[in-house]
Amino acid sequence: EQRIVVKDRLHNEIVDLALACNHMADQLEKVDSSRQQFVSNVSHELKTPLSSVKVLSESILLQEDAPKEMYVEFLHDINSEIDRMTAIINDLLTLVKLDQKEIPLNFADVDLHQMIEEICKRLSPLAAAKNITLDLQIKQEVTAEIDEMKLTLAISNIIDNAIKYTPEGGSVVVLLDADHQNAFITVSDTGIGIPEEEVTRVFERFYRVDKTRDRETGGTGLGLSITHATVMMHNGSIKVSSKEEEGTSMLVRIPLRQSQNN
Ligand code: ADP
Repeated sequence: EQRIVVKDRLHNEIVDLALACNHMADQLEKVDSSRQQFVSNVSHELKTPLSSVKVLSESILLQEDAPKEMYVEFLHDINSEIDRMTAIINDLLTLVKLDQKEIPLNFADVDLHQMIEEICKRLSPLAAAKNITLDLQIKQEVTAEIDEMKLTLAISNIIDNAIKYTPEGGSVVVLLDADHQNAFITVSDTGIGIPEEEVTRVFERFYRVDKTRDRETGGTGLGLSITHATVMMHNGSIKVSSKEEEGTSMLVRIPLRQSQNN
């Protein structure tokens, strides 16, 4: 009888082990396919500007005695395609470094009011060009332990998007609030919004709601991935709520102190 008990136990352990192995294989497959997806996205994103450069340079080479204006125009286009590839590669490098935790965060006490005010000041020409009002509301003065440079980039991406995806004459409101443990930065716009089923996908690498349109706005599709990774490294969170044709609101929560998390 004892032997049966031992046999049963052994059998259960083997079943558990088999299940664990299956689970691990599933996970590995997932990691591998998301890596393949990533590589394929990167290739695709770089291929588009690269083919433009190829077409532009070939047509100018094939054209005998092309007028100087044509050279200038084509070189100008080639130049902006190169800028685009550089932007993609720079964003990718930032993301990879964030992912590998290669760049340590430089935590220091920062006055968030001042930080956000500076971001708004820097982005206000973009808003002004589209006749968008960019409003900063301070509900609570707050100092938080953050990496100022990285969080500045993360919040700038959100405000930049709010301006980019809001039609002429709209408004963007940036609100700063806090409780005892967290700072809250909310960016709300009166823009085109994001379809409900896509809201959670905006943080994915290269994800764009409307591929052609959003590429034309000059984005790389990596801005919000960088924002998300940065906020996660601050042990914070981001919530998105959006309604198509009405607007989008992004709420970033950042703990005031990192010490208990480190
Ligand atoms: P991009 O560089 O294309 O702006 P992001 O990673 O910053 O890439 O954003 C991903 C996508 O999420 C955008 O292409 C856009 O479709 C959508 N999106 C982001 N912010 C907003 C917003 N405020 N309003 C509407 N759509 C937005």
